[in-house]
Amino acid sequence: MPFILTNQSIKSILLVFGATGFSFNIGNIIHEFGHAITDWASGIPLSNIHIIIHPFFSPHMDIEGGIPDSMIGWPDAAGPLANVAFGLIIFAILWKKRTPFTFPLLLWGPLACVQEGIGQIMTLSDHGSDAVRMIAAGFPEPLLITISILLMMIGILLFGLSFQVAGISMDTPFFKRIAVIATGMIPYGLLTLLICVLASPNQQDVSRSYNIIGGFAIIAIIVAAVYSPVGQLAKRFRIRTDFQVTWSHGICGIGLMTVIVILQLLFLN
Ligand SMILES: [Zn+2]
Repeated sequence: MPFILTNQSIKSILLVFGATGFSFNIGNIIHEFGHAITDWASGIPLSNIHIIIHPFFSPHMDIEGGIPDSMIGWPDAAGPLANVAFGLIIFAILWKKRTPFTFPLLLWGPLACVQEGIGQIMTLSDHGSDAVRMIAAGFPEPLLITISILLMMIGILLFGLSFQVAGISMDTPFFKRIAVIATGMIPYGLLTLLICVLASPNQQDVSRSYNIIGGFAIIAIIVAAVYSPVGQLAKRFRIRTDFQVTWSHGICGIGLMTVIVILQLLFLN
């Protein structure tokens, strides 16, 4: 595919790769801390809460002695809610001053919306999932599904606006858009799969990696497909869409991803 490998595309791919790894991990961390802080606020001692967030394995939280049934509800919603809320707040703060340097943080909002939207719908029948526990606590299932679908739509729109900051301009041809976004996003999933196959004792981590790869591939196709209408919208509202990505932007993105991966391995495992 020589048409993808222009200098400009390689820089965009590097930046998207780093930004995907960074925003995916920061989202997972904030999600788990959202659960932990509300559990603590509901009366569970901090010393009983154990958070394990590996950059490549399923993140999880253990509560010594379990969570009392009376406490389900808020602490379950707080994980997805914290991820989406903080991602969108950061998006709103950075939007006016967005540059390819801040793209990794900008990507967090859209990724959180899509990830939590898909996540709730896909785990509606998984025992012990956030979605199942929220419904058990009385949250209406149709409302949860509606919110999840809305979140996915908002996420796709924001993805379309964000990727222009990574140098993928409105007039990039359709297949090149898919190629650059997919080649940027999917490698973090492939890396996760490779590390899980080599190092995780848990088969669930391996199937989670396939979901991550599939999820990123679907995001690439859908975002590439809605790029033109989103671009038209951007034009109508005079939103700036011409961004040039340099090698330093790409390296900065990869650097941010590396830092967050190392911090998790050091402090959250
Ligand atoms: Zn959760």
